[in-house]
Amino acid sequence: MNILVLGSGQLARMMSLSATHLDLHVLAYDVANKQIINPVTGQIHELSLTEAIAQSCAITAEFEHIPADVLALCSASGKFYPGAEAIATGGDRAKEKALLDTASVRCAPYKLITEKQHFLDAITELAMPMVVKTCQAGYDGKGQWRVKSLDDVDVIWAEMAEFLAAGSELTPHSIIAEKMIPFDREVSIIGVRDRNGQCKIYPLTENQHTNGVLTLSIAGKEKGAIQQQAERAFNAIATCLDYVGVLAIEFFDVQGELLVNEIAPRVHNSGHWTQQGCHTSQFENHMRAVAGLPLGSTELLRPTAMINVLGQHQIPQAVLSVSDVTSHWYAKEAKAGRKMGHINVSASSLHSLGEKLGELADILPEESFPGVLATGQQLI
Ligand code: ATP
Ligand code: MG
Ligand code: MG
Repeated sequence: MNILVLGSGQLARMMSLSATHLDLHVLAYDVANKQIINPVTGQIHELSLTEAIAQSCAITAEFEHIPADVLALCSASGKFYPGAEAIATGGDRAKEKALLDTASVRCAPYKLITEKQHFLDAITELAMPMVVKTCQAGYDGKGQWRVKSLDDVDVIWAEMAEFLAAGSELTPHSIIAEKMIPFDREVSIIGVRDRNGQCKIYPLTENQHTNGVLTLSIAGKEKGAIQQQAERAFNAIATCLDYVGVLAIEFFDVQGELLVNEIAPRVHNSGHWTQQGCHTSQFENHMRAVAGLPLGSTELLRPTAMINVLGQHQIPQAVLSVSDVTSHWYAKEAKAGRKMGHINVSASSLHSLGEKLGELADILPEESFPGVLATGQQLI
C-alpha cells in the first residue's frame, strides 16, 4: 500500500524509512518541481499527482505551506490526514491563535496587523520588546522582527508593508505582533491521535534554539505537573481539530506555566529523538495513524538527546565511537545553516547522557554545534 506525502524533504524521507517496516510505501510529492519521487533514493516516479492520490491509501504532509490547489485536490479524496483545516491552521499564525483561544489554551498576548496604525497600537498594548511575525510562510525564525525601541518602527514597518503588499486578493498576507515572553526555557510536546480519537503522547522535550533554529533537544528530564499541563493542551488542540496523525506543540515555560508558541501539524524536528528514545518513533506512529493501524508505544525507553547538524558536508564519523550514538543523514545538498542531518545519543540515566554529551563536545566544535558541552555539564 502507498502513502502519499506532500513534500519531499527529510521528514518525508524518515517517514518513508519507518513505513518500510510496516510494508507501506511512501510516494513523496516534490511541490516545487511538481513530481512524485521516492524520498529516500530521489528516484522520480512517472506518476501525476492525481494518479498518486488514486494509488495511495492515505495522504499526509511534511509541511504546512502547501499550495491551495494541491491541498484541495488531496482533501477531496477523503483520505488526507490530518486534514485541510489542521494544515491551514498550522500554516497561518492568525488561524493558530484563534484555535488556541477556542481550545482555551494559553499563548503569548498578541495583536493582528494589517496596517501601520495596528502596529503602533500593538506597541502600546503589548509594550516593547515585541516580536512581530509574518502569519504565513515563516519557519526556522524567518519572517520575524524584534521591535526593541521606537527607533526601530519605521525600518521594520517598511519591511512589513512590503510583505503585506506581496499578498493577493486570493491569499492576503497578514502579520502578528506578540508580546516578547521572558521564558525560562522552551519545551515541546509531540503526540499522535488515531482515526478513533485515541491519543498517545511522548514525554516532553526540552529544546534549545540558536538564531531561531533548533540546535539541541533533550528528552527524559520531565515529570509530573508540567507533563500533564502539556498533555492537557495537546488533547484540547487535537480534539478541536479532530486530528489524525502526529501533532507537535512548542511552548515557552515561564516559571512552570506553559504558554503555546506555535503548533506544527506534522512530525517535528524536536521529536527526532524518538527514533532512539522510544519503541515507536514519531515517524512510524504518524504512518500508523494515517494508515489506520494501531498506534505504538510513546513511552521513554531511555533519556535521549538530539543534536542538529546544520550546514555541514558530513557528520563527523568520530561521533560513532561514542556508545549509543546514531547518526541520521538526509542526503541533501549542503548550504550554510541548512538542516543536513542529526545525531541521537541515548543513555541509561541523565547523568550518563551528560557524560556522553561531554564526549561528543570533544568531537563537535562549539561554533557549529552550540550547547552540547554546557548541556552535558548540566546533566552531570
Ligand atoms: P519553526 O522552525 O520552529 O517553525 P518559526 O519560524 O515558526 O520556527 P517561532 O517558533 O515562532 O518561529 O520562533 C522562533 C524562536 O523565536 C522561538 O523558538 C523562540 O526562541 C523565539 N520566539 C518566538 N516568539 C517569541 C515570543 N513571543 N517571545 C519570546 N521569544 C519568541
Ligand atoms: Mg513554525
Ligand atoms: Mg517554532
